[in-house]
Amino acid sequence: MKIISWFLQISFKQRIWLFTTVVGMLAITVLGILLSSSSKPKEVIDFSINMSIRDIAPNLGVTGKGLARELELPIDISKKKPLNLLKVTDEELHHAVEHILSHSDSMLKYYIYAALVLFGLVFLIKLGRPDGADVKHRYKWYPRAPYIASLLLSVIVAGFLLGKSPNPMEGTVKVFKSMLGLYPDPMAKVIAFIFFIILAVIGNKIICGWACPFGALQELIYSIPILQKIKKKKLLFVITNTIRTCLFIAMLLFLFGIIGGRKGFVIYHHVNPFNLFNFDFETFSILLTVIIALLAAFATYRPFCQFICPFGLVSWIAERVSIFRVRIDKEKCTQCGACIKACPLEAAEGRVKGKKLPADCFSCARCLNVCPVDAIEYKS
Ligand code: SF4
Ligand code: SF4
Repeated sequence: MKIISWFLQISFKQRIWLFTTVVGMLAITVLGILLSSSSKPKEVIDFSINMSIRDIAPNLGVTGKGLARELELPIDISKKKPLNLLKVTDEELHHAVEHILSHSDSMLKYYIYAALVLFGLVFLIKLGRPDGADVKHRYKWYPRAPYIASLLLSVIVAGFLLGKSPNPMEGTVKVFKSMLGLYPDPMAKVIAFIFFIILAVIGNKIICGWACPFGALQELIYSIPILQKIKKKKLLFVITNTIRTCLFIAMLLFLFGIIGGRKGFVIYHHVNPFNLFNFDFETFSILLTVIIALLAAFATYRPFCQFICPFGLVSWIAERVSIFRVRIDKEKCTQCGACIKACPLEAAEGRVKGKKLPADCFSCARCLNVCPVDAIEYKS
């Protein structure tokens, strides 16, 4: 009902914005389908352990080092020797090949991310709040239905239909992996990372808030109106961010062989919840991460994003320069706490109190329709 009442309230100009945005999203998606070369079904090629790393790696789109890493060999091992002489079994080779292929990027997914971010941005900036609406009717602003629809699209299309890759988390990790020479095209990894960062900077972390499939799944679960008393208790940002940062530093130390002695080891590989979208739980730790994150999401806002995700950390840093974001008019703000109460994190509180490094804001819009003095807006 709220969405109908919102639609009736928005101006003609806003309806034109809505129409244009939906057309724009469709155009981006069609363009993605036309330009995408990733529609070929992935197939497991029948390589054999009589072949060398040098014979196999180019066919999988990785470097010799990249394949050696997947085979759990030292990345500087001879690439000319047949794999059986390196004591690699058929099963290990098959597993490595399947794993590499499962990470092949679906190019179409980049377009889907862009389309979802476009919708989120226009909704937050132009549509959520009817032009000239009285603040007395603020509870009708920013209805949840368009947000839920965007989240569902993300989970279904960018998640289960198109598979786990690319995603912002892997986009972050692959940049560092490419420094070890694991990919033949490091520039492509840098461009993918920049793409995600640009989306995070245009709208405050909007790629996380509106388009990331695992973020969306957690958001959908959190939005189920149960355990409301527990949800009121927010996690301390200083703790979640410290854990997330320590994991990131540990990832770098292990990846570059500073700890552990084996270059190329990626901690996040063992807790990558995006595997869910391929129904591929290679390790018990991945299955456990997915189960814990999704169960915790019933009571806690985006637990994986808060505690683990490296892109969550990087995009939190990028928030300092985001263009469109929640802004609080200090002149009008009476510090009544309405937005702080509505926010599932310490994000609104940090902004109201003018903290230099407030908690992550996922552009979820919960705070945008509660301010009695109209001091809060999503704008540049
Ligand atoms: S922080 Fe959350 S929403 Fe953002 S990329 Fe990571 S998993 Fe996705
Ligand atoms: S409720 Fe919190 S996380 Fe959501 S938009 Fe507002 S400040 Fe950001």
